[in-house]
Amino acid sequence: MGKGWIHSVESLGTQDGPGIRYVIFTQGCPLRCKYCHNPDTWCMVDGEQIEVEELMEKILRCKVYIDKSGGGVTISGGEPTLQLEFIDKLLTRCKEEGIHTAVDTSGYLDRDDFKKVLEKIDLVLLDIKQIDDLKHQELTGVSNEKILDILKLLEEEKQDFWVRYVIVPGISDDIEDVKKLSNLLAPLKYLKKVELLPYHQLGVHKWKDLGMKYELEGLEPPSREKMEEVQSIFVDQGIEAVIK
Ligand code: SF4
Repeated sequence: MGKGWIHSVESLGTQDGPGIRYVIFTQGCPLRCKYCHNPDTWCMVDGEQIEVEELMEKILRCKVYIDKSGGGVTISGGEPTLQLEFIDKLLTRCKEEGIHTAVDTSGYLDRDDFKKVLEKIDLVLLDIKQIDDLKHQELTGVSNEKILDILKLLEEEKQDFWVRYVIVPGISDDIEDVKKLSNLLAPLKYLKKVELLPYHQLGVHKWKDLGMKYELEGLEPPSREKMEEVQSIFVDQGIEAVIK
């Protein structure tokens, strides 16, 4: 399949991996996170179909800036691994052009499927939403079992990765949960960084536009103190943790 469903692209992204990134937001996601700021990516066929080569032409136009900044291409979503064949082709083309590749994923897929594309990925950005499985199900609609298995896989395959964790007051900011997560991550050699993202309400209007109820209505972002408290738990374990 040379074509993939995408939501949008960002040619000068600075939030999704090192340096300046050409970010491709793919369409389709199997999770239903209560704080999702892109619910318009959930249904695959609501996106636009594009050929790998058409996308590569756009990427190559930005290659000078990307290379100068130590950046690359990031495939994000939605959930990019839902379109494995498409991202496989795109990653192959990027590697042929000598472009650094990153995939931002919820990790909600089978290890054997992810293994098929891993060697073409320089950096995985793994979004862990909650370490506690019941709370994870409550927040995203699915178990975190597969996601934690992907975490294991990354380490086994010696794959460099970052973990991203969104701090949502009352949902993922419980200090005991954060400690459990940091204990799990601390021994991992291929974990290069943890990014802590404060919950925000920027996508709330999209829920309304789609006619869906936003359950976290009125929930305020975490305080700076809370973000720093969470950060210190990771740092105390020797993990590089940054607040975004
Ligand atoms: S995994 Fe990402 S795109 Fe999917 S529902 Fe959660 S926040 Fe939204």
